[in-house]
Amino acid sequence: MKEEMILSVNDLKAAYGQSTILWGVNIEVRKARVTTVMGRNGVGKSTLLKAIMGLVKAQSGSVRLDGQEIQSLVSYKIARAGVGYVPQGREIIPKLTVYENLRLGLEATPDYKEKISEEEIYDLFPILKEFRKRLGGNLSGGQQQQLAIARTLISGPKLLLLDEPTEGIQPSIAYEIGDIIRRLVVEKELSVLLVEQKIDFARHVTDHFYLMDRGKMVQDGSADRF
Ligand code: ATP
Ligand code: MG
Repeated sequence: MKEEMILSVNDLKAAYGQSTILWGVNIEVRKARVTTVMGRNGVGKSTLLKAIMGLVKAQSGSVRLDGQEIQSLVSYKIARAGVGYVPQGREIIPKLTVYENLRLGLEATPDYKEKISEEEIYDLFPILKEFRKRLGGNLSGGQQQQLAIARTLISGPKLLLLDEPTEGIQPSIAYEIGDIIRRLVVEKELSVLLVEQKIDFARHVTDHFYLMDRGKMVQDGSADRF
């Protein structure tokens, strides 16, 4: 039986000005699974996630979410459609507390409703409960990364796009983040499109791999092939 896909990207092309970055990307993201894109620096992994979010305009090709074309929607509407995006680098607001940063995530949903309760978030990320009143800028890199993910989760996305969530993070914390991702996949049927460079961490969390090179997917398969 063919697995169900939450996201299908077909022959997607995109450029920054004159320089083409995505040369015709094809990728399928399975429901309630972790799909991981690996590839060297500068091959276009982050650009792919931005194009899916509508932050970089595609020149041609299609992006389908649950069978529906989303390429022409603006990012705000995509957020409404249930896609959460955690960009590369941590974009939390240092002058706000952990609690305030977390609540910011609700603005991604038009009705400002928690889809995953704050208690559930604290259950997933105990460190955030402990540091609830601390300023975001006083957290370590790994803690900030957890906050960035938690903030995206609170609005209850069905698809989560994660751009190198373990960049600059020590392996033990990376594995903790990996376990949280796996738990959400199993318990909430979350679908995840992960961009990751660390092969050990990626094997720990991934169901299906893609290898990207110079703006295209050049190989895909299960963990044992990567
Ligand atoms: P990394 O592993 O280092 O994060 P990546 O695969 O995510 O790399 P991208 O960030 O998608 O790579 O960048 C792909 C190419 O696009 C690079 O050559 C980069 O210099 C270029 N690029 C990225 N952002 C812009 C931009 N805003 N304007 C122009 N060129 C850009
Ligand atoms: Mg990148």
